[in-house]
Amino acid sequence: MKNIILSLLFLSVFSIQIHASVRTNSYNILLEIFPENQSINVQANIKISIDPENIDSLVFYLHKEFSIKEIKSDDNISYDFKTEESSPYFWMPDARPLWIKLENNKEKDINVQIVYQGSIKDLKWKTTNMITESWIELGNYSAWFPYNPDYGEFISSVNLEIDSSYLVTGMGQIQKSGNAWKIEQLKPASDIVIIASKDLKTFYNEDHSKSIRLDYVIFNEQNANETIQDAKFIVELYKNWFKPSPEVQFTIVVVPPFPNRGSYHRKNFVALLQPEPGVNISFHLIAHEIAHEWWNSAPTDNFEDWLNESFAEYSSLMAIRDQFGIDRFEEWIQYKEFSSRESPPILQPNTNTRGQTSTLYDKGPLILYNLEKRIGRIKFLEFLRELLNQNIKSTDDLLNLLEGITSKEIRAYFENELLK
Ligand SMILES: [Zn+2]
Repeated sequence: MKNIILSLLFLSVFSIQIHASVRTNSYNILLEIFPENQSINVQANIKISIDPENIDSLVFYLHKEFSIKEIKSDDNISYDFKTEESSPYFWMPDARPLWIKLENNKEKDINVQIVYQGSIKDLKWKTTNMITESWIELGNYSAWFPYNPDYGEFISSVNLEIDSSYLVTGMGQIQKSGNAWKIEQLKPASDIVIIASKDLKTFYNEDHSKSIRLDYVIFNEQNANETIQDAKFIVELYKNWFKPSPEVQFTIVVVPPFPNRGSYHRKNFVALLQPEPGVNISFHLIAHEIAHEWWNSAPTDNFEDWLNESFAEYSSLMAIRDQFGIDRFEEWIQYKEFSSRESPPILQPNTNTRGQTSTLYDKGPLILYNLEKRIGRIKFLEFLRELLNQNIKSTDDLLNLLEGITSKEIRAYFENELLK
């Protein structure tokens, strides 16, 4: 049981494997949510770029309980929603393939409109996405919108209609206009997250830059303030270490304490699980999830996910070292040494499956710690920056880069650590 809970604690980012010939550019969605019967009505307008020479069909993934009302395009199309097939995506277990055949398309840019409705009741990630009267949380875990992770990142605009007693938050900019809510995402991202509750309260950081927004239901104000301060500190630290990026804005949603669920990161957004009364959200959890703003580009369905998870986790330990000092950091190292004693190696010959929790979150960070000790903190930071600069997504490329900035010996040493 502990393992199940642990593995849910860090629900991951989605990987973006860009398909050479199809790209989703934008979504324009009209969404109605009916909390009382756990259902939605959707009209999704999707702009897609394709290579018409090589592509004559599209596939999106959509929740199995939906029924398609209509699909339209500039071109003649036919479609097939294969609800009997299974999902190829670990993180979207309830999704089913919706095949759209383009009959005679010669255009590079096409528009597809998909109209569908239905309930979202049967969910494998039960409490991570849901529609209930007290809490609504929709994202790609539930496949509430037609999505294919292979088609890349996109911008989005959602017009939401919901009973006027609900307040709304989510990824991107949120605005209420009249009876509807507009949720707009102008930076390309891989998800559309919408959260609603009648009891939502919103807090901004005090400096009025509004760079961090925090929404909660049963948090208290003092804890909300501390969490915002922690997040601000961590963002600045990572910007300094990893990649100076333009102003990073964050929405933090403190999710009520539903059982068996975890926290997750999306572009400029984190959902963090409410802690028990009397304690605040841990610095460690905030630092791990925010680190995914940088560590998110490797595949999440196979062993390469250590490039996301172990790096995010070690980043959080580095942040702990900076904020609380070396003694606290070393306690964490001892803790990880103990909990990774039985962990399988990061690299296992003849298997491509996702690593165990202790491999990803305990063993991987320890290997990075030992590398840092071996090559020194300055070189190690250079290594991290270069991984990000070069957008490294595979262990092979990582080893080549490491050899380039250190030596053959260090590469051999590190490769051996990954196999142990
Ligand atoms: Zn993570």
